[in-house]
Amino acid sequence: MGGTFDPIHHGHLVAASEVQARLGLDEVVFVPTGQPWQKAGRDVTPAEQRYLMTVIATASNPRFTVSRVDIDRPGPTYTLDTLTDLRAQRPDTEMFFITGADALAQILSWRGVDQMWPLANFIGVTRPGHELSDKGLPRDRVKLMEVPAMAISSTDVRRRVADGQPVWYLVPDGVVQYIGKYQLYRPQAETAKEDV
Ligand code: ATP
Ligand code: MG
Repeated sequence: MGGTFDPIHHGHLVAASEVQARLGLDEVVFVPTGQPWQKAGRDVTPAEQRYLMTVIATASNPRFTVSRVDIDRPGPTYTLDTLTDLRAQRPDTEMFFITGADALAQILSWRGVDQMWPLANFIGVTRPGHELSDKGLPRDRVKLMEVPAMAISSTDVRRRVADGQPVWYLVPDGVVQYIGKYQLYRPQAETAKEDV
């Protein structure tokens, strides 16, 4: 499951857990993006901090792991590179790329989309506020799955922190504490963030 994870929240975790259980997956690998080219318009938290929050959030689940492939590869993240690197690490593993309805809608615009089909199956999960439609997607490669609806986004979590509103129960406790410890998402803490 790829994502910016800025920060990881319970929508990501519920979706991953549901797909894991329904498909009987051995492992769900969370892959925080490097420099996210789709989000060039805003300041993204340093990859190392997004990685650490993802580790904190997933540590208690024996089937959840976190991969550094995208944050260790220089330059912008492309899903084709992600899948190629994961495939090289797991040559005999059947892979499923888990993505939400909003991201799935963009899938056909991804660079190298035709080269991606042989590398993985694609699982599109429901997300509140976004229609899950398989229009234009190759049906044999993309499966759609309904997951418990969690109307949470990282954007909303960042906005709540900036406004001084609580984010308890939207993100795991350890992530709430990490955000507080490093003063993430507070406009006045922009310079402090650079020092971490
Ligand atoms: P942002 O608001 O910064 O875009 P986000 O909440 O959309 O953050 P991402 O890191 O962009 O989180 O998402 C990673 C993946 O998780 C995407 O495939 C996205 O569709 C999916 N996803 C995010 N939130 C949910 C949710 N609440 N339910 C289901 N899928 C989700
Ligand atoms: Mg998003």
